[in-house]
Amino acid sequence: MRVLLVGGGGREHALADAISRSPLLSKLYCAPGNAGIAQVAECVSIGAEDLDALHAFATDGDIDLTVVGPERPLIMGLADRLRADGMAVYGPDAAAARLEGSKAFTDEILAKYGLSAKRFRVFNTPEEAKTYAREQGAPIVVKADGDAFGKGVKVCSSIEEAEDFIDAVMVRRDFGAAGNRLVIEECLVGEECTIKVFTDGETVVPMVASQDHKRIGEGDTGPNTGGMGCYSPVPNVSDAVQDCIVTSIIMPTVKAMAEEKAPYSGTLYGGCILTDSGPELIEYNCRFGDPETQVVIPRLQSDLLEVLAATAEGKLDGIDLSWSDEVAACVVIASEGYPGSYEKGKRITGLEQAQTDERVKVYHAGTVAQDGECYTAGGRVLGVTALGSDYDDAFERAYAAIDRVHFDGMYYRRDIGWRARSGPDSR
Ligand code: AMP
Repeated sequence: MRVLLVGGGGREHALADAISRSPLLSKLYCAPGNAGIAQVAECVSIGAEDLDALHAFATDGDIDLTVVGPERPLIMGLADRLRADGMAVYGPDAAAARLEGSKAFTDEILAKYGLSAKRFRVFNTPEEAKTYAREQGAPIVVKADGDAFGKGVKVCSSIEEAEDFIDAVMVRRDFGAAGNRLVIEECLVGEECTIKVFTDGETVVPMVASQDHKRIGEGDTGPNTGGMGCYSPVPNVSDAVQDCIVTSIIMPTVKAMAEEKAPYSGTLYGGCILTDSGPELIEYNCRFGDPETQVVIPRLQSDLLEVLAATAEGKLDGIDLSWSDEVAACVVIASEGYPGSYEKGKRITGLEQAQTDERVKVYHAGTVAQDGECYTAGGRVLGVTALGSDYDDAFERAYAAIDRVHFDGMYYRRDIGWRARSGPDSR
């Protein structure tokens, strides 16, 4: 099978690594890839949002399956274009990717099919939004409707804060067209968890649970990032909780999308809050998480390519996945300054030494190869994943590997997994 993987971050490195081990694979391309992916795939210099060039490459290159990593090309309609030419794609069409691309669409679908009790309203003007926010009172959640790179949501503890964020979204246009509409939601209280499934539009096959740390600082403080580390499994997400969310929210959503004539195929990733009256969905993503993929996929013992192809072909029924019981831990190494501005082009050393432990894998996120050396090329640079017999074992291996890696200004949190580990810092 000739496969094109779209994307160039840590998530795509984890996918590329697993796909490259499949006996079904004859050739793996990745657009644009990175220095780590280049070790297991042929990287082609096409950006993940260059739909014309990706379409041309897939059709001219006799590609059997295109696997789309990031959400943007899916929201922009890459899967639609390839499917229109009869090609197999892993990832939803644009109409189905609205589950990530529009928070108003998702809230409306959930309400229409009775899948949520959460109060919400959608607004086209800031005045109406402010009036409603004042009526409801704080705390209240304000969301830009569209894709705002994860920055378009604010949990507001006062009405002043809510009014200011409404202005940021709809008047100052901080998030551009993502702020054409705005959603105000009731503020839910409870522990958060994420549930990820493979679905071909009918059959739903859950993945193992994982938990990430979004904040830059230790103790989960400071600004939000794309994710500074994660682990799988998750102590508070029992099989019962996972089953409940899959059967009461995820599967009915997949059915609803088919009824809406926007069948959903690919990864469906639900962010939930476990409230006193049951789980509530707060967001859907239409792709694998990053860095969650770096802990979920290493635990998959089945052939990933077989699952992706079966999903794309609508043949997920009958696929039974097997997962390792081991703990997977991932710690992200970022460039100093991230998620604000940071420098690039720092030489990275110690990558081979870090992987002398066969339970450790260093996934590249923002790296570039030059003259046989590896350099930083992004905010999140590497994700160091280790498998272990328990949380402490896995995290100790990951941190021991990190001790061997060096680049100027490298930053990582030393407390990833603190909720699951035996001590706040058992290094
Ligand atoms: P989202 O991008 O929609 O996942 O929102 C980002 C974060 O905002 C979530 O991880 C939650 O912590 C929080 N959040 C979003 N919606 C709500 C809600 N309705 N109630 C409470 N917190 C929320």
